[in-house]
Amino acid sequence: MRHRMAEHAIGVQLLRNMAYYIASQQEKTGIAPTREAQMAKLFGAELQQRIAATAVQIFGMEGQAARPGAKALRYQYLLLRSVANTIEGGTSEIQRTVIATRGLGLPRE
Ligand SMILES: Cc1cc2nc3c(=O)[nH]c(=O)nc-3n(C[C@H](O)[C@H](O)[C@H](O)COP(=O)(O)OP(=O)(O)OC[C@H]3O[C@@H](n4cnc5c(N)ncnc54)[C@H](O)[C@@H]3O)c2cc1C
Repeated sequence: MRHRMAEHAIGVQLLRNMAYYIASQQEKTGIAPTREAQMAKLFGAELQQRIAATAVQIFGMEGQAARPGAKALRYQYLLLRSVANTIEGGTSEIQRTVIATRGLGLPRE
């Protein structure tokens, strides 16, 4: 669990740095770096799922509770909501395909 928490902390820091990079590039050039923005969207959405799953696991049964007032309620909500994050705004599969083809110039399947 300690290792997983460390990985999540690294992921959050990495995502923050990606966001700063995207914002600074946009400010400098006036154009959003779309490849990096897509990478951040994909990475952030999947990171949120991993963090939410860890939080729910830490809280055990309480982590799955949906009743109002439950301590871990927000983690249960976060886990359910994080599924939508990998669909809305383009699914993770589509993001990966676009990054690979338009971003890295790899051929389509
Ligand atoms: C909570 C939520 C909020 C939303 N909010 C908005 C909104 O505000 N405005 C708006 O316009 N839309 C919104 N959407 C719609 C969202 O953008 C689409 O659901 C999303 O782009 C996926 O499209 P789809 O549902 O048609 O899935 P599909 O394109 O039918 O995909 C279904 C599955 O097939 C996979 N798939 C499809 N094509 C490929 C491929 N070429 N290669 C590999 N895998 C593939 C997908 O990854 C997915 O797993 C929202 C969706 C959700 C879940």
